[in-house]
Order: sequence, then C-alpha cells, then structure tokens
Amino acid sequence: MEIKKEIALKKIPTRTSEKYRNFPMVPRVVFGSGSFDQLGDILLPKRRHSEAPMIFLLDDVFEGTDLIDRIPSIFCDQIIFISAEEEPKTDQVDALVQKIKNQFHELPCGIIGIGGGTLLDLSKAVAILLTNKGVAADYQGWDLVPKKSIYHVGIPTISGTGAEVSRTTVLLGPNKKLGINSDYTTFDQVVLDPELTKGVKKEQWFYTGMDCYIHCIESLNGTFLNAFSKSYGEKALELCKEVFLDNLSDSESRNNLMMASWHGGMSIAYSQVGIAHAMSYGLGYLLGVKHGIGNCLVFQYLEEFYPGGVKLFQKMMKKHDIVLPQGICGNLTDAELEQMVAVALGMEPLWENALGKNWKSIITEEKLKSIYKKI
Ligand code: NAD
Ligand code: ZN
Repeated sequence: MEIKKEIALKKIPTRTSEKYRNFPMVPRVVFGSGSFDQLGDILLPKRRHSEAPMIFLLDDVFEGTDLIDRIPSIFCDQIIFISAEEEPKTDQVDALVQKIKNQFHELPCGIIGIGGGTLLDLSKAVAILLTNKGVAADYQGWDLVPKKSIYHVGIPTISGTGAEVSRTTVLLGPNKKLGINSDYTTFDQVVLDPELTKGVKKEQWFYTGMDCYIHCIESLNGTFLNAFSKSYGEKALELCKEVFLDNLSDSESRNNLMMASWHGGMSIAYSQVGIAHAMSYGLGYLLGVKHGIGNCLVFQYLEEFYPGGVKLFQKMMKKHDIVLPQGICGNLTDAELEQMVAVALGMEPLWENALGKNWKSIITEEKLKSIYKKI
C-alpha cells in the first residue's frame, strides 16, 4: 500500500521534457521485386474473423490493371479506389472513416495503403481516426493522438517522399496544412516492392524523387544534423546521385530510389527539413501545388542557401530534360504573396534547422517574396 501511494505522488514527466526524441520505427518491412505477392501471408495472422474486413485504399491509377487481381482480398474485404490528383485533406479522411463505420459493424482488421505519399498518408490517418474520436483536424499537430490506431500497412508505388517510414501524415485541414505527428501514425508493416513503381511517368518520377534528394540536402546542411541523421542522409544522397546522374539499369534505378526514399525519411526523422519545404508549404496551401513539384520550384532558386545542392539539382534536371513550369506566382496579389510568406515563416523548426537559432535576423519577408516572385 505504502509503495503504491509513493508512486502515485511522483509526477509523471511530460513528453516535452524529452531531451532526445524516442521515436518509433516501422517494426516489419519486406523488400524485393514481387514481394507484393507475400501480402496475403503477411495479413493472415492479423485477420480476426470473416466479418472484420481488411480495407485496401488504392490509388485509382491502378483501376483496371493486373495489380487488382493480385490484391489478397477475401471475405468481406473492401478495395476503395482513391484519386491522388489532390493532396489528402482532413475532411476526406473523415468521410472515409464514416463510410467504413457505416458499412461494417466491426472495426476493420487492417488498413492497407497502396500508392504514393498521398495514399500512404490517407491510410495512416484513416487508421488513426477509426479508433480515436472526433475528426482528423483535431489531431493535426504533435502527439495529440491518445489511442493506438488500427493495424496499417504501407505499400509505396512511387519513391521519394519517405512517407513509408515517417511518423507523420500531412493533411490539408480547414485552416492549416499540418501533419498528424504521433507514435501511432507510423506503419506497422511496409512492403517495398520496386516493381510497383514501373508505371510512373518521367516527370512525376523526377519530382517525387527530388523530394528525397531535397530531404537529404536539407537534412545534411541543417543545424539539427547529428550522427544518426547524417548516416541515413549520406546513404540516401549517394543513392540519389546514382539514380539521377549515373546510367543504372531500370531495375537498379527502381531498387535504389526505393531505398533512397527510406533512408531519406529516416534522416529527417531525427533532424528536420529546411527552406525548400517551408516555402513549398506556402505554395501548397495557397495554390494547391503538390509537394514534390513545389519543392523543385522553390529549390531551383535557393543557391544562396544550398549552393552545392542546387548545382547538382540543375545537372539532374538537364540530364532528364525536365523543364519546370514558370509563372506560377506571376499573377498573385501582394496580399496573396504575403499570405504565402506567412505560411512559410510559420514553419519555425524548418527555418531554425536551416539557418540556426537566429534565423529571424537572417531571413526577411521581402527576401521570401522576391523568391516567390521568380517562381
Ligand atoms: P502522389 O501520391 O501524390 O502521386 C503522384 C502521382 O503519381 C499521382 O498522379 C499518382 O496517381 C501517380 N502514381 C503513383 N504511383 C504510380 C505508379 N506506380 N504508376 C503510375 N502512376 C503512379 O505522389 P508522392 O509525391 O509520392 O506524394 C505526395 C504526397 O506525399 C503529398 O501529399 C505530401 O504532402 C506527402 N508527403 C508525406 C510525407 C510524410 O512523411 N508523411 C513526406 C513527404 C510528402
Ligand atoms: Zn518532402
């Protein structure tokens, strides 16, 4: 009795007092060409009974393809096709959760996301919202999710974002674009099958691949860098250089970019991204510009901050005949530009990582406006 009392009186430390982040990693991963076909075996032990479905959220680019026949759907499992045309939104997550709850008396046994960062993020968020009350927007932020999510599996079909390893799901909400960053966001299982990325169009391959490259540059040149991030970031950068500058075979290129994405994601997990990401958030929030291309649009004008990285980026663009669109911000009003600058500057940890604790004295609103105006 005495001991119990003593424990109860002791203050439980809050997470904010953590000096070093204790973050979860994906506990199980399978890698290899054709590994997608092991999915049925992987899911089997997670099935409770025939009335509790596995829900497969699938990028609708695969509608009518052979992949559908390879999905191990049995009993009352459901395949839901979702467009990746737009980045995920909180109300889209809420609608999906409602649809699943309306249709089934039981909670699903698992959510399996198959697609790019858009589908992976949606799947993570749906898995969280199935066990936590309220709406997705309630959980945008850091460590706001109280309950464990449903078992969820991530299967990337395009490489670069690192969403397959990260503990966040980036969502556009009613008043902010922000991730649900929590220990329950991370996937329970990831299937890395490079063959699934075969159909990706060249431009999209480049933009999403550059997301990974920019993760490396921003992490390796950031003030938050440490041995953990450096080890992953350097490996990811080496793989990106091979993929985008050497002449690899198609299968080598697919394998390496998939592993680069993984390592790039691990690198930023223990550091942070930087200026291109902060400014790309502004483009995404105001104009709906997607993450990968948005990063490229900004990064090309950041030679002052990442001279070596931008030089190599130009070389990669040239090798692959990539021409970025122009005039994106040309017709914006001053008020709109200011709003974009405000969104970008709101990403404080990104600026601190990029420029150090005194970042506010280095970067000005005018400077950001002038960069946006070039885009
Ligand atoms: P995406 O999921 O938006 O897909 C881009 C395009 O590629 C879509 O048209 C899609 O249909 C197509 N596509 C995907 N796989 C294909 C295939 N095998 N064949 C043919 N077409 C295919 O792309 P993305 O760049 O991977 O993801 C961007 C999203 O990821 C953004 O919403 C961004 O916010 C998010 N993101 C999340 C994290 C994270 O840690 N959670 C990190 C970075 C980015
Ligand atoms: Zn990114």
